[in-house]
This record gives sequence, structure tokens and C-alpha cells, in this order.
Amino acid sequence: MFQGERVIVCGGGINSPRILSTILDNEHLGRNLFVDIFLTVGGVLENCNLDRSVPMALYRRYDGFLLSPHYTFHLYRSIKRERRDVGSGDIYGIMVKIGDEGKGFVKGNRVYKGVSERDEKLLSRGIEEASKILGDMGVERIYRTVLRGSHPGGTCAMGKVVDKNFETEVENLYVCDASVFPESPGLPPILGIVAMGKKLGSIL
Ligand SMILES: Cc1cc2nc3c(=O)[nH]c(=O)nc-3n(C[C@H](O)[C@H](O)[C@H](O)COP(=O)(O)OP(=O)(O)OC[C@H]3O[C@@H](n4cnc5c(N)ncnc54)[C@H](O)[C@@H]3O)c2cc1C
Repeated sequence: MFQGERVIVCGGGINSPRILSTILDNEHLGRNLFVDIFLTVGGVLENCNLDRSVPMALYRRYDGFLLSPHYTFHLYRSIKRERRDVGSGDIYGIMVKIGDEGKGFVKGNRVYKGVSERDEKLLSRGIEEASKILGDMGVERIYRTVLRGSHPGGTCAMGKVVDKNFETEVENLYVCDASVFPESPGLPPILGIVAMGKKLGSIL
């Protein structure tokens, strides 16, 4: 139990709705979950040394997705199964990240998240675009990782679970983390989350 004049929940997109589920009776709590689905496509580009570069140092936005250079061990491992001669410095990858639809939800200890038809289309377009770039760079065979998501949010959405001042229906109970994003920004969210923290600080 936490007691205070004001309580701010910031357990993140998965845990904030869990924490609040015993307190709030709000049909939107835990719903609207997005995760910014991504995968990495890539292949062998000898001595490119992407593994030693700053990850995602640059990116390009397209309509509904972004592409960014991305080394990942997952890609290396699947290529290595077929090409024993390659080292991690020979792997070049491009991340395809979409702003996915908020159709997942958190219920109790479970998290449900699928890929909608629209998400699938965006991913296909991103994979196609990234494969073209890799082909132009001289990558002959294209590999890809499984789908992942590392930006959970939307589950205490502003306008549905919290108001524009981050307050819930319970007075002086606030939420401030990625769960209050009403929809996926489709971009790394940290700066937005920091900005929200500063905004709530000024409100309080
Ligand atoms: C591998 C990886 C790389 C990433 N890289 C980037 C990046 O480069 N740029 C970017 O913008 N974003 C990046 N992200 C995403 C970013 O880290 C998250 O979107 C962001 O941290 C979410 O902030 P948050 O405050 O919503 O939740 P969190 O940062 O997850 O904070 C929630 C906190 O609450 C705590 N907590 C949860 N439940 C409880 C409980 N019951 N009791 C007490 N404490 C609890 C957790 O331990 C945690 O400290 C990355 C994520 C991952 C996984």
C-alpha cells in the first residue's frame, strides 16, 4: 500500500494498468496496448562493422514505419547457422519499426498482442523497402528476425483513463509513463516520456 497526498503511478505500459486494476473501475484500463512492433532485416556485408557503431544513430521515416541501421545478435545467429565463415562485424541490418495499432491488452498476469491486417501491410512495405536498400548495398541474401516490440504503451490512455493533467478518476492519483500515450508514436518514446514527467511536475 502507498499513501500520500498525491500518488503517481509509473510502472510502465504493462505494469501500470496491473497496479491500478485493484483501484480503478475503468473499462479502458489495460486496453489499447501498442508495442511499436519491429523486426530487423539484413545479411552479410563484409567488414561493415555495424556491430561497433552507435545503434540507430540515424533513421528515415516513411508513411507508417521507419528504417534505421540496426545490428542485432538475433540476425547474426540465424546467418551464422548457414554461413560459419562470417563474424559479427560482417552483418548489416536495418530495423523496420511500425507504429502499430493499439489492439492489445493486459489482463491480470497475461499480455495479449497480435498483428493487425494494417500492421502486417506496413511491415511488408518496410521489409520491401529495407530489402531494396540492402540489395543496392551489395547484400545478396536477405535474412530477417522474428517480430519484437520494446515500447509498450497506451494502456492508461490520456482521454480514456487519465485526463489531460494525468489524473485518474480518483482524485490525486496520477499516471505518468508510456501507458498514457493515447496511441503509438511509432518512434523511440523516451524524450516524450521525459517531457510528460516535466509537464506533470509543473502541473503539481
Ligand atoms: C532493449 C530496449 C532498448 C530500448 N531503446 C530505446 C531507445 O534507444 N530510445 C528510446 O526512446 N526508447 C528505448 N526503449 C524503450 C524505453 O526504454 C521504454 O519505452 C521506456 O523506458 C518506458 O518508460 P516507462 O516509464 O513507461 O516504463 P519503464 O521505463 O519500464 O519504467 C517502469 C518502472 O516501474 C518499475 N515497476 C514496474 N512494476 C512495479 C511494481 N509493481 N512495483 C514497483 N516498481 C515497479 C519497473 O521496474 C521500472 O523501473 C528501449 C527498450 C528496450 C527494452
